[in-house]
Amino acid sequence: MKIAFIGLGNMGGPMALNLLKAGHTLSAFDLSAEACKKFGGEGLPIAKSAAETVADAEVVISMLPASAHVEGLFLGGAGKPGLLESIKAGTLVIDSSTIAAATSRKVAEAAAAKGVAMIDAPVSGGTGGAIAGTLTFMVGGETGDLERARPVLEKMGANIFHAGAAGAGQTAKICNNMLLGILMIGTSEALALGVANGLDPKVLSEIMRRSSGGNWALEKYNPMPGVMETSPASKNYAGGFGTDLMLKDLGLAQENAAAVRAATPLGGLARSLYAAHSLAGHGALDFSSVLKLVQKAS
Ligand code: NAD
Repeated sequence: MKIAFIGLGNMGGPMALNLLKAGHTLSAFDLSAEACKKFGGEGLPIAKSAAETVADAEVVISMLPASAHVEGLFLGGAGKPGLLESIKAGTLVIDSSTIAAATSRKVAEAAAAKGVAMIDAPVSGGTGGAIAGTLTFMVGGETGDLERARPVLEKMGANIFHAGAAGAGQTAKICNNMLLGILMIGTSEALALGVANGLDPKVLSEIMRRSSGGNWALEKYNPMPGVMETSPASKNYAGGFGTDLMLKDLGLAQENAAAVRAATPLGGLARSLYAAHSLAGHGALDFSSVLKLVQKAS
């Protein structure tokens, strides 16, 4: 299959490489010359522009930071044409970015008006899951479009869920990430408390992992440096899932909660704590660096 892949960041780059390894024909692009150089060096064919990637693509995949990037790319603005102008009718667009459900619906409607099918397919599983091809996809859109996308999604992920109509994948994703943001702070608090009492963080992590406090952070993404060789904490919190991206997702969750009048007190508190952490200059570090905030407070 001919696939255009736009957005070669921490997630998009490895996802595109998995499609290439599976035998698909790729054309990839990122606004960052550094990202193009990095993944071009690993074998991804790099195009000169997003418009060039979609020229004869059957499937277009985007993996961008936030709503404004996705809307700007597909719909254009400030006198610039959107990519939908260049995408042929009959093409399938898969947007895997985590963005507002309302933006997903707006872009999907504009695509449909041009005869282009679009699904929202945000992911969970972190950069480790992107590299290993074991991501979880949460899809919003028509069943038939999901079935068209499935053979492509299966090369990047291990679990594919149909959450509902357009935008539903995004809603599922922000519920998940609100929980993730909260549990990372809770896990950090518990570890910092143990360490303040002289416990070995490796031993405490293993005790909690196998006890009722066990969770994804303790399994795969320990926030304490040195406990888990593969976690961003052991790499000075480089790569991974940026604090500012978590802050964006918690903001989306709060906006959504206000719109449907849902009570999300811990989600609101978590957003404030990541905001403080970002304002302290840690926005580009992996979100598990929120441990520093807790340690500083102690
Ligand atoms: P990132 O910041 O590492 O990468 C985003 C890339 O998009 C950057 O390289 C940037 O240059 C590029 N970009 C922005 N606008 C563009 C445009 N118009 N055209 C081409 N390229 C453009 O982000 P990431 O960590 O890869 O995350 C991408 C999305 O996936 C975000 O929405 C994030 O919330 C979500 N996500 C991330 C993780 C994670 O662990 N990092 C996990 C699940 C979901």
